[in-house]
Formats: sequence, structure tokens, C-alpha cells
Amino acid sequence: MQGVTEVCSECEFDPHQIAPDQLGPELLQLAIGYEAIIADASVSGCLALSSRPSAETWSILEYTGHVEFIYGSVGQMCEIADADELAPINGVDPDEHVDNAHFNEVAPTDMSERIHRSGEQARDALAGLESGALNWTLLFNGNPAPLGLLTLAMVHEGHHHLRDITRLAAR
Ligand SMILES: [Zn+2]
Repeated sequence: MQGVTEVCSECEFDPHQIAPDQLGPELLQLAIGYEAIIADASVSGCLALSSRPSAETWSILEYTGHVEFIYGSVGQMCEIADADELAPINGVDPDEHVDNAHFNEVAPTDMSERIHRSGEQARDALAGLESGALNWTLLFNGNPAPLGLLTLAMVHEGHHHLRDITRLAAR
């Protein structure tokens, strides 16, 4: 899994830079980055804020909505993780989810609040775990993986898409 065991060739996320106790704070820090990009794009009138630059490229609001959903799944995983049982969780098809969610109709200020709140919730969920819980194994899409590693993959997603929207906002 690129971005979890090795440095991501696209966004240069280095998983070894994130200590386990920094996963939650990092998710919130990234959320604040999304807020900043949304604010900048609003001020500059960036078209990619709420419309796709091309059919296959999400808008800034769509990327943010996708990451909000990912953050929600961190909270969900923290809730269902269990020391003795393989709790199952399944991802969704990202394109299908974004197509159906109509994030481009959400007011940018609302989306900013949503990503911030979901960052806080994910951080709090991680902070509330009992010690050792990051090593508990879940069944993600049928594959066993520890909660800490799955969360690290979500941190990478947040980092990766923040780079995507930073580029969109700069166009
Ligand atoms: Zn990446």
C-alpha cells in the first residue's frame, strides 16, 4: 500500500513521519488545510471550487466531501474495533459516492465547517481509544488490517487530496 509503507511518489507523504499519537492531530491539521484552500478559492473566484475542471476531475468541494466521508469512516472504525473480534467495514466506490452526494451544491462555508468538525470528531475518536487499540485488527473490504495502519492510510488520503485541491486552487 503506497503511502502507508513507503513515501508516496505523488504527494510525497511519508508515513514514517507520523507517530501513532499524531494520527488524530494530523487529521485535524489537514482539515484546516482544506478550510484554507476553500477560503482562498472563494476569494479568488476559482471555478474549480464547485465545478469539475474536467469530467473525471473532482471539484474542490467534491474532494473535500470525499475526505469528510473518509474522516467519518475513521470514527466508525474506532467505534467498531474490538480486541478479540475482526470487525468488518467496507469502503464505498468513491466516484459513485461523490456523484450521488452533490457536494457542489453545498455552500463553501458549510463545507469548511463540515470538514473541520469531521476532523475534530476523528481526532476525538482516536484520542478516546484504549491503549493498544491501534493494533486491533479490522476486516477492511475483506482484508485484515490493524486500525492504526488503516487510519494512516486515511491520513495519506487526506494529505494526497489536499495536494490535489491546492493545485486546482492555483490554476
Ligand atoms: Zn499521496
